[in-house]
Amino acid sequence: MRTDQFPETIRPHLIPEPGGDLVYRCLGCQTEHGIESLLYTCPDCGQVLLLHDRNFDRLKAIDGETWQQIFDYRRMLKIPAVKGIYRYHEFIGPVVPLDSVVYLGEGHTPVVEANGTLQEKAGIRFFYKNDGQNPSASFKDRGMASALSYINFLIRQGLVDQVLSICASTGDTSAAAALYAAYLKPHIKSAVLLPHKKVTPQQLSQPLGSGADVFEIPGVFDDCMKVVEALSETYNVALLNSKNAWRILGQESYSYEIAQEFEYAMADKVVVVPIGNAGNITAVMNGFLKFHETGIIDALPKILGVQSVHANPVFEYYSEPEAEKRRFVPMTVKPSVAQAAMIGNPVSMPRVIHLVDRYNRAAGTPRVFFAEVTEQDIMDWQLTANRNGHIACTHGGESLAGLQVALKNGAVTSSETAIVDSTAHALKFSGFQDMYFQNSFPDGYAVQPDPALVNGPRYVHPPTLKQVPAPGKPLDPEAFAVFVKAVSDQIAGDLGLKKRT
Ligand SMILES: *Cc1c(COP(=O)(O)O)cnc(C)c1O
Ligand SMILES: [Zn+2]
Repeated sequence: MRTDQFPETIRPHLIPEPGGDLVYRCLGCQTEHGIESLLYTCPDCGQVLLLHDRNFDRLKAIDGETWQQIFDYRRMLKIPAVKGIYRYHEFIGPVVPLDSVVYLGEGHTPVVEANGTLQEKAGIRFFYKNDGQNPSASFKDRGMASALSYINFLIRQGLVDQVLSICASTGDTSAAAALYAAYLKPHIKSAVLLPHKKVTPQQLSQPLGSGADVFEIPGVFDDCMKVVEALSETYNVALLNSKNAWRILGQESYSYEIAQEFEYAMADKVVVVPIGNAGNITAVMNGFLKFHETGIIDALPKILGVQSVHANPVFEYYSEPEAEKRRFVPMTVKPSVAQAAMIGNPVSMPRVIHLVDRYNRAAGTPRVFFAEVTEQDIMDWQLTANRNGHIACTHGGESLAGLQVALKNGAVTSSETAIVDSTAHALKFSGFQDMYFQNSFPDGYAVQPDPALVNGPRYVHPPTLKQVPAPGKPLDPEAFAVFVKAVSDQIAGDLGLKKRT
């Protein structure tokens, strides 16, 4: 639809103009810092930052219902820059002009209702939001689109050039960073640091394919993160971990999309997300708070953060009911199938503490909950979901397993509706499915396959067959007919097929 065909009340707001007054705000000393240079921690006290719009109140001049219509009408635009996370430009990165936006197809991922069988088993109405259907097959693309659009804006203004982007990664951050950096070559080069043997082969193939410099480091993610922090403090590099507040801003789109998808009715909704470095749950809380403050949603949904017992420092922190007694203790992680969330010292923990408090106060009642789940439950729920038509990754299984825990302990009730985050595509983590099917999990995981969920290919080569075809070596017609008959008879026998009558 052409813009002159849109309603007159919407037209002035349809195509976003640069605006707002963004600053980095320190969560420690509250100092504000300008965004002209790339900052990751407060130069005064070293704490993490969040981006804050000093002119946020201007957005309240438009009422919530008009905002809802603006977003709905923007859906129809054919302008690439507002097809992704910048549909919510005023909330995602108002200073970034549309011609600096990098759009690779991220965001607006499908929300798929679970089938009857799975909802019955889960005991609640729920939907998966398939963030594995982002360009690099995880939600990290949302944050990268934001961080790289801002860097692109700085490049186009001539403020920076020849940027070397760097990140530590449990696999998906590096895939996303390398992809977006490759799109912006030659202005940006990308280097990624991965914990050796702690990312899947599919994840490793991604930054390699995008042409990044890939470094494998002994240890786990937390060790890589320390090296990257040391590099970003000493050298002139652009840090693309979620310590970078621009990443958080982009990932807020996940909550805006849920609000829009459900017609902004959030009172009876539960948003379930896995927690690793805690960037995503930070963004989800911050996003809903911003929509709530501007009247776009009239209630804050429940948030349920889920961790594996093998990497559960956030859960442990909140398991102390009395806020004054809570102490954050980083932990040493154990192997987890939710490998992208295998993090013992989440960088965004101070943001989580700050935002959980704000969120619950804004809601007037506790609305943020945490659950821990076993490795066994993660695998069983992932495979069960996928047997019912989903493409959930292990973290999607972790989220669904966490929803079960919350239903049992009363944090969530069966009258609510859950939106469960499958943060990546199942294919990235198919190695864990193989281990389950072959009962070959190393001891550390403590996962035993449920025979009802195990599957495997059957090689069909009837012993009576003398000749079988091979690539470049077709059989003669007679031998081929024998082959087709013998193989199809065996398959029909295996499947118990009945002859046509
Ligand atoms: C990064 C990641 C997580 C954890 O998200 P955080 O923002 O680090 O808490 C979960 N699942 C997948 C697939 C990821 O890539
Ligand atoms: Zn500070």
